Order: sequence, then structure tokens, then C-alpha cells
Amino acid sequence: MNFLEKRIIKDGVIKPGNVLKVDSFLNHQMDIELIEEIAKEFKRRFGNKTVTKVMTIEASGIGIAAFVAKEFGVPMVFAKKSKSINLDGEMYVAEVESFTHKNKNQVVVSKKFLHEGEHILIIDDFLANGCALQGLISIAESAGAIVEGCGIVIEKGFQIGGRAIRNMGYHVESLAIVDSMDDVNGTINFREQEEK
Ligand code: 5GP
Repeated sequence: MNFLEKRIIKDGVIKPGNVLKVDSFLNHQMDIELIEEIAKEFKRRFGNKTVTKVMTIEASGIGIAAFVAKEFGVPMVFAKKSKSINLDGEMYVAEVESFTHKNKNQVVVSKKFLHEGEHILIIDDFLANGCALQGLISIAESAGAIVEGCGIVIEKGFQIGGRAIRNMGYHVESLAIVDSMDDVNGTINFREQEEK
């Protein structure tokens, strides 16, 4: 088990409805030393790529992506969830359905902060059905940027997102892949990943 899988076993809580709560260390209270280790691991896995910007989605991706951007020495931009329909052509827009809240949001990034030819590393805390990631990919590509890869902290491998996005040809690296979990007896099984 890697450092993250050990932490999930220790402090993660499995909720009914296939929701894994990791809010004591990842996406509410944040263990900064763990986040630093996560960022270093993404640098190790994507270090051979050209990365000129890190991109994520608010809210829980921001803290993680900030540390990753620091590792790469590049800026970070996050997609905002927007209610406004008056976007005046100044924004790249995608529609994203939230797995946890079951609602749809428009997410936007200003055209000022994404440009043609930029090399983007997308970072997020979870990959479930892949809507958030697909929205981010679509925003990056509508700017003419190149998606170099997607770094995910926890992938729920029993949901379709990871397979769908890899099948589209994107390089997805997930630090922990949960293959199954059981909220009744509290067990989690991780996918074996070869040492990279
Ligand atoms: P997707 O768009 O891939 O279906 O879901 C990704 C987003 O939903 C992530 O940004 C994350 O915030 C949230 N999410 C999905 N599954 C879980 C989960 O099991 N636990 C938590 N805490 N968030 C999740």
C-alpha cells in the first residue's frame, strides 16, 4: 500500500451511496504534509511532460493543485462554478454534473487565463463518473491548449470516469484507485498499481 492508501484506510469513512469521505485530511481539513507528498508524487509521475499551467475546479481541487503548481513552478488556474448566464464571450464554459450534489453547474474559466498552445496538467481530488474532468478537458481544449495529463488523488475505479477518459486517449494517473468499498463492514479494496 502506498502512503495515500494507508491514510485512506486509517482516516477515510465510507458512506452509503458509494461516497468516500476524506474530509479529515484532504478536502475540508487538509493535512498539508500529506498534500505536499501528493504534489511531489504528481511531479514524479508527470515530470517528463511539458507543463506550463495546472488547472483544477473549485472548491476542493484548489488546495491540492496549488501545491502541484508549486512543484512544477507554474501558475494554477481553477474553473469557477457560475450561476451567471451573462458571460459575454469572455469565458470558456462547460456544463458539469456534480456526483456528490446531484446538480448541474456551469463552470467557467476566463479567456484571459487560458491560451492556445499552453500545456495543461489537470488535477482533482476525486474521479467518479468523470464529469468534472471532462468539463475541464473541454475548457482547456476550447482554448486550444494541450492536455498533457490528468492527476487524480482518489479514483473510484468502479465508476465509469477513469475508463472513459483513458479510452479517449488521455494520460490519467490516480494515486489511489478504489476498486470496491463496503459501507456496512467498512472495507476498501485498492487496485494493484505497478510501481512507476
Ligand atoms: P465526477 O465528476 O468524476 O463524477 O466526480 C468528481 C467530483 O465529485 C470531484 O471533484 C469530487 O469533488 C466529487 N466526488 C465524487 N465522488 C466523491 C466521493 O466519493 N467522495 C467525495 N468526497 N467527493 C466525491
